[in-house]
Amino acid sequence: MTMQTPLAAAARPLQAGSPPAGWSHQHLLDLEELTAEEITLILDTAVLCKEATEGCRRKIDVLAGSAVVNLFFENSTRTKTSFSLAARRLGADVIDFSASTSSLSKGESFIDTAKNLQAMGIDAVVVRHGTPGTPHLLASHLNVGVINAGDGPHAHPTQGLLDILSIRERLGDLKGLTVGLVGDIAHSRTARSNIWGLTKLGAKVILCGPPTLVADGWRELGVEVSHDLDAILPRCDVLNLLRIQFERQHTRPFPSVREYAHLYAMNRDRLRRAKKDLVILAPGPINRGVEVTADVADCPQSLILDQVTNGLAVRMAVLWLICGGRSSTQASKAAEGRIV
Ligand code: ASP
Repeated sequence: MTMQTPLAAAARPLQAGSPPAGWSHQHLLDLEELTAEEITLILDTAVLCKEATEGCRRKIDVLAGSAVVNLFFENSTRTKTSFSLAARRLGADVIDFSASTSSLSKGESFIDTAKNLQAMGIDAVVVRHGTPGTPHLLASHLNVGVINAGDGPHAHPTQGLLDILSIRERLGDLKGLTVGLVGDIAHSRTARSNIWGLTKLGAKVILCGPPTLVADGWRELGVEVSHDLDAILPRCDVLNLLRIQFERQHTRPFPSVREYAHLYAMNRDRLRRAKKDLVILAPGPINRGVEVTADVADCPQSLILDQVTNGLAVRMAVLWLICGGRSSTQASKAAEGRIV
């Protein structure tokens, strides 16, 4: 394993062989299946990764010899790029699989395609798909790690983790904080992953948006539901501004974007009426003038770009936790002369 100082010393905790005690999952499918301790372990590992790579900018080779395939069937800017970069920062090989130019277009099934990739000796598949449950289906057919990078409107665990890491960096312990998730809750995979992660770590979650996008049934997940942003604003320590997912909507959920922005966009006036250290998050892509005005998106309370950096840290942590055990097993087998 090649590594240069001074990164070597910082990366030492990541090299301790198999992933740390407390991690026993082969896959990361959603945050619902993790305990508070496991979520905290990922966040702490992300901090280690960030330090070991000098703010996610340098390369360490703790996953040298591993291979990760990105299997994206929906558009992505941040998630796909940062999974690729995260794997490369840790020294793994990355293959960006292109569905449109693959044999899927010749009639090969999704599972057969994935099994063929597995047969090439990969360690993990990062999958994004428009159909909820696709990563779970893959996990039930493959022996390699499966990481959910967004399955339709269902879940987006690494987005939830990077949002939580960004809050923790700025405000500390999540316990007792009130986090408002504002916008298109109905179609947002970010919302569900945030709800699972935040409530497990002791934060209070308020969902806010028009009744057509925030149904009362969400209360079953242990959250409060409101349709009045101005009413909940003074109680919030964090606002996570979710995009209106027009691409997933079949009917118009509100009369006009202008009316939506009037009632739910975070703007200067609302910022003045909020807690003075209110933190603004948005998963991106942001639509300036819809869920957030341009000045608020760029203000010092906005962590929107810090979230992107933390996305890299969280994805390094997840890849390390999922592939680290596999590569150390391979390394020890190789050392014993069992694989060449
Ligand atoms: N990028 C996030 C997602 O893939 C949020 C969004 O698209 O609005 O779910």
